[in-house]
Amino acid sequence: MATAVAPEPSPAPTIHDREQTQGLQNIREFLKVRCGYDVFPLSFRLIVLDHDLLIKKSLNIMIQNSIVSAPLWDSQKSCFAGTLTATDYINVIQYYYQFPDEMYKLDQFRLSSLPDIEKAIGASPIETISVNPLMPLFDAIKQMLSTRARRIPLIDVDDETGKGWVVSVITQYRILKFIAVNNEHNTVLFKKTVRELNMGTYKNIATTRMDNSVLDVIHQMVARNISCVPVVDDKGRVLNVFEAVDIIPCIKGGMYEELNGTIGDALCKRPDDSPGIYTCSEHDRLQSIFDTIRKSRVHRLIVVDDDNKLKGVISLSDILTWVLLSEEA
Ligand code: AMP
Repeated sequence: MATAVAPEPSPAPTIHDREQTQGLQNIREFLKVRCGYDVFPLSFRLIVLDHDLLIKKSLNIMIQNSIVSAPLWDSQKSCFAGTLTATDYINVIQYYYQFPDEMYKLDQFRLSSLPDIEKAIGASPIETISVNPLMPLFDAIKQMLSTRARRIPLIDVDDETGKGWVVSVITQYRILKFIAVNNEHNTVLFKKTVRELNMGTYKNIATTRMDNSVLDVIHQMVARNISCVPVVDDKGRVLNVFEAVDIIPCIKGGMYEELNGTIGDALCKRPDDSPGIYTCSEHDRLQSIFDTIRKSRVHRLIVVDDDNKLKGVISLSDILTWVLLSEEA
C-alpha cells in the first residue's frame, strides 16, 4: 500500500522576500491610484494618421518623423481606427510574398485596407484596443498584457460632442520609466536576481546572424510573435539585436524587394539616435534593471554571460508581467 508523503514545508520567507513583497505591493497600490494622464511627459507631440492615407506614404511619414507607430483616425466616421505598428508593415510584407500576383496593387493600398490584408493572410488584425486616460494604470497595463499590445492609445470623450479623441499613446517603456522614476524607494527592495525571479526567456531563443536575410527574420518574428531577435556570431556571442521597428527603413518607398538584403545591411539603416542594445547578466538584481530603466531608453535587455554569449531575453512585457501579476506579493 502506498504511503502518503507529507509535502515539503515551504522555506520561511527571508528578509529579502519580505522586503520584495512590500515593494511590489506598494508599486501595485501606486498603479491603482495613478492613471494615463499622470504618465505624460511635460511636453509631447502626437502624430495621428488618417486611415485613408496610402500605406506607402505612411512609411515615409514614419521615417521622416522618427516614429515607429501611430494612431489612425477615420475622418469619415470621426473615430479612432486602430494603432499602426511595425507588425502591420510586416503583415503587408507577408501579403506581398503570399500573393505575388497582387503586387501591382501594393502601391495603391491605403491604411484602411489593412484589415483586409491581414484577414487574407490569416494574421491578427490591426490593434484597436484603447483605454480612457482616467483608467487606473493597473487596469490599463493589465489590458496591454492580455492583448500583447506594446502600446495603447488613450482616448477621451469630448463632453459636448460625445465623440472620442486621441489624447496620447502610452508605451510599455513609458509606463516602466514612470514606475522606476517614482518608486526608487520600492525598487531598491528588489534584491533577487533576474534568474532567481525567472524573469525573461532562457530557452529556445530565436536568433539570427548578420548575413541572414531580413525576410527570414521576419518569418521568425511572425511565427513566434516576438518583437526582437538577437544577432549572434558563430560562437553565440551577441553582436546586436534586430527589432521589428528595423523593418520600417528597409521598406522605405515601398521597396519590398530590399527585404532579401542581409540583417547587417538593415542595421546600417538605423537612425542615428537609435537607443542601442542593453545587456545584463542573469545574476543582476532586479533593482539594477530598474536603475537602467530609470536612466536610459531601454526597450529590452539581452541576458549575456561573461563571454558576451547569449543566455536570455528580458522584454519590457516580462518585467510588467512580474510587477502586475507575479504571486510574490
Ligand atoms: P516581446 O515581443 O518583446 O514583448 O516579448 C514577448 C515574449 O517573448 C517575452 O516573454 C520575451 O521574453 C519573449 N521573447 C522576446 N524575444 C525573444 C526571442 N528572440 N526568442 C524567444 N523569446 C523571446
